[in-house]
Amino acid sequence: MAFTRAAGKHRRPSVLSRKSANIAGVAALTTTGVIGTLAPQAIAAEQDLAAEDTGTIRAVALDHSAETVAQRIEEQAHAQQKALDEAEAARKAEAERKAEIKRKAEAKAKKEREERERAAREAERKRLNTFRLPVAGSYVSTSYKSGGSLWSSGSHSGVDFHASSGSSVVAVGSGTVVEAGWGGAYGNNIVIRMNDGSYTQYGHLSSINVSVGQSVGSGDQIGLSGSTGNSTGPHLHFEARTSPEYGSDIDPVAYLREHGVSV
Ligand SMILES: [Zn+2]
Repeated sequence: MAFTRAAGKHRRPSVLSRKSANIAGVAALTTTGVIGTLAPQAIAAEQDLAAEDTGTIRAVALDHSAETVAQRIEEQAHAQQKALDEAEAARKAEAERKAEIKRKAEAKAKKEREERERAAREAERKRLNTFRLPVAGSYVSTSYKSGGSLWSSGSHSGVDFHASSGSSVVAVGSGTVVEAGWGGAYGNNIVIRMNDGSYTQYGHLSSINVSVGQSVGSGDQIGLSGSTGNSTGPHLHFEARTSPEYGSDIDPVAYLREHGVSV
């Protein structure tokens, strides 16, 4: 901006310097980019007054006008800052709202996942603690302690479950396999140490699907029924015992019933 007007005889240098200071103030503000649109008005005001510059009154008016412009600039700067602050506050509120929605969704998903896991654990616990028949849907075809020349001890040390050859034989409950292989008169046989400390034994199998040391759950298939060993035909010989040894047998039907199995 140029200050080219002729020096009036009444104009006071002090006023000029004050006006110049204000104009300079406007120029300084415009460089911030905040109130750039007001700068031309300041210049126009200065030019108008320059054309009619006849003395002190005009100079004072100019000075006053510049002050008004500065005031308006300041007010507009305040208004713009307020708008910026409000926009920033709105942006933050929106971000917090979205974060809250996300937090709630995550908490809900976590709760649902925990519910599913808890239900799965409960179902698994129930399955492991539920005893069942060693051959699904079968029945006792030869009872415990029944006599006959077939058994070396003179009486039946377990029960026979009806089963055609190749029927699925399952663990009646959860436990660990302690014997899996040839058992003489029992043919292919499996002995499981149950989790409650008792033992169950499965004989005359056509095949064995487990090995010693393996953990089994209730209902897990451990082999297939057959007629191996001292047997007159396909069936499952089943014993309940207090130890893994032959001769520690207990009533297998009572044992299964004590564990909640209908037999
Ligand atoms: Zn038998």
